[in-house]
Amino acid sequence: MPTEPELRAAICEVGRRLWQRNMVAAIDGNISARLADGSILCTPTGVSKGFMAPECLVRLTPDGRVIGGGRPSSEAMLHLACYCARRDVHAVVHAHPPYATAFAARGEALPVHYLTEMAVALGEVPCSPFARPGTTEVVEVALPLLASADAFLLRHHGPVTVGRDLQEAHHRMEWVEQGAQVAAIIAQLGGAEPFSPEQLAELARIRADQGLGVEPADYDPAGCLERIAAGWGRRADG
Ligand SMILES: [Zn+2]
Repeated sequence: MPTEPELRAAICEVGRRLWQRNMVAAIDGNISARLADGSILCTPTGVSKGFMAPECLVRLTPDGRVIGGGRPSSEAMLHLACYCARRDVHAVVHAHPPYATAFAARGEALPVHYLTEMAVALGEVPCSPFARPGTTEVVEVALPLLASADAFLLRHHGPVTVGRDLQEAHHRMEWVEQGAQVAAIIAQLGGAEPFSPEQLAELARIRADQGLGVEPADYDPAGCLERIAAGWGRRADG
């Protein structure tokens, strides 16, 4: 497991890459990772993800109380929901890349049935109902999707990816946007034939062989909403 300084540096590097690849505009997006002691390092509110310094990051308890740094992103509640509901998740990335965000605006799950990489690496990318950003509604809509998805779209908002480490969550964000872009081009070209049910079943088997997908034992959303709603916005010492 990486040390806190290593994770701080890695979060800043992922922020730079998201910004360089046009996945976040202005102060959009947020990145977090879980430390060995269970606390969460996350990006602060109001900063460009392309130009962060390691010391600007905020440290939170699992229920959202600030224990170091300034004000966390209001979307950190969503990150806390991912860690609370999924014990295998150690990093979360949220961004607004244009193609995947367009699917989110349409309320459409991302089509993963055209490309082997998408079907194997992501499995499925569902879209949530609408939730007001920065409220516990985001936690409410995210929790059910985490039962089976490592990547999902927030309706009218943008994609979220989780991973066993920061690199995996970041790679999934890149795959989501790549898949959304290819799906948009396929639509412009007049469509493409999707996988057959047999091909999809075979790809699902390859995915399982690679140890991908959510283990039922890793998912437990019970009490997460209440826990985050109670802790959010409080100082650990207050
Ligand atoms: Zn956002």
